[in-house]
Amino acid sequence: MATLFVSDLHLEPGRPEIGEQFLAFLAGPARQADALYILGDLFEAWIGDDDPNPYYARMKVALRELSDAGVPVFFMHGNRDFMIGETFASDTGVTLLGDPHALELHGEKVLLSHGDALCTDDVEYQQVRAMTRNPDWQAMMMSRSIEERVAFARQAREQSMARGQSADDEIADVNQDAVKQAIRESGADILLHGHTHRPAVHPFHVDERPVHRIVLGDWYEQGSLVEWDEDGPRLEELPRP
Ligand code: MN
Repeated sequence: MATLFVSDLHLEPGRPEIGEQFLAFLAGPARQADALYILGDLFEAWIGDDDPNPYYARMKVALRELSDAGVPVFFMHGNRDFMIGETFASDTGVTLLGDPHALELHGEKVLLSHGDALCTDDVEYQQVRAMTRNPDWQAMMMSRSIEERVAFARQAREQSMARGQSADDEIADVNQDAVKQAIRESGADILLHGHTHRPAVHPFHVDERPVHRIVLGDWYEQGSLVEWDEDGPRLEELPRP
């Protein structure tokens, strides 16, 4: 039995192969897990829990089936799906987590994060993040019609494209000082996050204490998973069937 961690699937109707692999994962290996943690950017965009798009309904049913099968499922917001709310949680049986979230796993102190808050070099992005995570901004957004929110999301994406690069190229890496501060404050042995799409295991020291930062990859070409059992964490690729 193992605890499983994924992030950055960026599910959207236009990339059906990612959704099919994720559905097979939920109905297959995830059923044997002690728990499943989804560390943000499960969806490429989320305009609100009232989105009637049947593609999202299908993903919600699959999460519901996993939680009904007795596997606890946890979700942390990413920078794409930060509008996921309590309705999504009650529809799916998923528990929403704050960012960062600390837990203990097989005797190790673990700090979970999506990772975007650690990218402090990108000052412009951190300003956008602060604005869009504000409850007043979110309430203002939810007061608009679904059509208006869909149009807003499309426009935000086009503006990001117009800045010259694809969205992925724009992702700054984490700032090492921000990483060390998060580890120092939490006393964690291991920081586990996604967001940067740079899967790796980084050993280093904080105040002469050996620690690790594990980075989950995205699911664009294959799946990315951390499987954590009594032998410790393993970062793995899930080949596309
Ligand atoms: Mn992200």
